[in-house]
Amino acid sequence: MPLCQEQFAALVAACRQADSFLLATHVNPDGDAVGSCLALAATLEKLGKRVVVYDQDPVPYMFRFLPGAEIFRDRLPEGETFDLLILLDCSDPARSGADLEQFTGYRRLACIDHHLTNEHFAELNLVDSQASATAELVYEVVADLDPDFDLGVAINIYTGILTDTGSFHYANAGPRAFAIAGKMVEMGVDPWQVAQHVYESEPVSRLQLLGLVLQTLRIAPDGKAACVVVTREMYARTGTSAEHTDRLVNYPRSIAGVEVAFLLREVEEKYFKLSFRSRGNVNVAALAREFGGGGHKNAAGCHLRGTSEEIIALVFRKVEQLLAPPGAATAAAAGL
Ligand code: 5GP
Ligand code: MN
Repeated sequence: MPLCQEQFAALVAACRQADSFLLATHVNPDGDAVGSCLALAATLEKLGKRVVVYDQDPVPYMFRFLPGAEIFRDRLPEGETFDLLILLDCSDPARSGADLEQFTGYRRLACIDHHLTNEHFAELNLVDSQASATAELVYEVVADLDPDFDLGVAINIYTGILTDTGSFHYANAGPRAFAIAGKMVEMGVDPWQVAQHVYESEPVSRLQLLGLVLQTLRIAPDGKAACVVVTREMYARTGTSAEHTDRLVNYPRSIAGVEVAFLLREVEEKYFKLSFRSRGNVNVAALAREFGGGGHKNAAGCHLRGTSEEIIALVFRKVEQLLAPPGAATAAAAGL
């Protein structure tokens, strides 16, 4: 659904009216989640508002350079009530983590998001699944609240769009994404400096993890699905953690002929986080939703119980069904 002017006006009015804000995003925050929160937080603070920014998980190492990153808190304030809780880049409240889901210290709830699977759960919803990144929507809000926003805000917005478009690779990198990114560059954002922090400052341990992960590569018999697995044992061997698994799923997707790629990340015994990526028209958000997750058409995720072998077999089967030409299932059932 495209950006709705009424939703936009209601959210901006609520921001002007409220004095205290709790901004939060999804667990394991990515560049869009962190950049969107920080851009909005800095703008609200400049308007004299009290702002707390929360995520249960730490800001990943590649996003700690973002201006204001140190304001993220990993504990919810006790005994404080906020006029407005804004969930950013969060398709459903459960994605914000168990503590925040149970938190009641706010008067109104708002959501700024661009996920296809967002069900408009808040009182105020600024949801546009055509936006490349939540940062694109935050840009509109920030530009309205404070047209003279500073370079720090611009770096956060640029980074949100950069990372959610896969460095402007993906189909969501539309004219709006380029236009806003271009404006941020005009304001002084240095693309190489941002890229150096985000993509060119890997610890050696991440490359060692990559080496182990690539050895797990599996390809479905028809060559249209591929996956890799990350186990806790690999973390222990290389001194890494879940934050080092970002973008590893792009390797199986990069194979010619692969339509759907996924990564299994072991969370605990027989419990995996799955990251799906697709190319072209395959809707992995629908696939993830079948497994209780969600996301975007070309990038989605969910959690599943079972051994990695069981999960891989299950997903390969599902993908095969998904890619079967219409009528193939009925033809097969009829023995044709
Ligand atoms: P990633 O694979 O990078 O963790 O996530 C890709 C996309 O899928 C993101 O937009 C993210 O919000 C969504 N996603 C990932 N895991 C889950 C999940 O467990 N539940 C839901 N609803 N969405 C997810
Ligand atoms: Mn996003």
